[in-house]
Amino acid sequence: MTERLSGHTLLISLIATPIRHSMSPTMHNEAFSKLGLDYAYLAFEVGNQELADAVQGIRAMGIRGSNVSMPNKQEIIQYLDEISPEAELIGAVNTVTNLEGKGHLVGYNTDGIGAMAALKDEGVEVKDAVITLTGAGGAGTAVAVQAAFDGAKEIRIFNIADQAFENAKLTAQKITEKTNAKATVTDLADQAAFKQSIAESSIYIDATGAGMKPLEDVSLINDPEVIRPDLVIFDVVYAPRETKLLRFAKEHGAKKAINGLGMMLYQGAAAFKLFTGEEMPVAYIKDLLFSEE
Ligand code: NAD
Repeated sequence: MTERLSGHTLLISLIATPIRHSMSPTMHNEAFSKLGLDYAYLAFEVGNQELADAVQGIRAMGIRGSNVSMPNKQEIIQYLDEISPEAELIGAVNTVTNLEGKGHLVGYNTDGIGAMAALKDEGVEVKDAVITLTGAGGAGTAVAVQAAFDGAKEIRIFNIADQAFENAKLTAQKITEKTNAKATVTDLADQAAFKQSIAESSIYIDATGAGMKPLEDVSLINDPEVIRPDLVIFDVVYAPRETKLLRFAKEHGAKKAINGLGMMLYQGAAAFKLFTGEEMPVAYIKDLLFSEE
């Protein structure tokens, strides 16, 4: 790694907190090395307080792009010059480009693109699908919007009655108005409606973070009757690789129970393309990431 760094090396940053656990620096640096690209990718512990200065730093130092994670994904929009249509609809940005270091910052959101690419990789067709989705925070919104852009017929969002519920309603309204998909929101407390919706869906996506710390013992599906062999179950969590939901689904006969690793990989690949104009060597990185742990 260090052997190839020089005075010409271009920097890509990741600004979020907490961020030291992230796989993104490894993923991007390994991809730069593999392709012989003169870039380096570093994580910076940046929260909302430091965000304005950090964005100024990106401009001032000609940092060529940045990934953005929590808690900055929404907050950063006010500091950018332009945002892409999907980032606008999602209301959040996870990738910023500063092409040629000229200081014109454009925000994108590749989380939903990553989720749809991960499904495609598993041979799952989103076009014309009826999808039941739990969660309407950052990840859930990105998934819902991209599924709509990719031709899903219906996206049925179920959320608990917390602050994300209002966001879910807003997202559903925007999707229904601006895409060809129909989106609805129902309180997850209505378990009969939830089960009925899954029975009518080909894909169930959990974007709540249930199954990951501190919710590692939580699965939003606990009734074996809900699981069918032809129901695709996709959990955006990738740590642990097998959440309670995925274990339960496999035990009860689901043929496709997919974790969030592919989503993480492909959101990175889409960002890599925006930063460098090159395709990430996905198979190589996949081997590296999937074989770890
Ligand atoms: P968030 O806080 O923005 O949203 C959380 C959502 O889950 C909300 O809709 C909330 O109402 C719901 N929720 C919270 N607790 C719940 C519970 N006990 N029961 C039911 N619903 C509950 O979080 P986020 O940024 O959207 O992240 C969600 C998950 O997605 C995290 O685990 C994160 O690691 C994962 N994620 C994965 C990728 C990836 O590339 N695989 C990318 C982004 C996020």
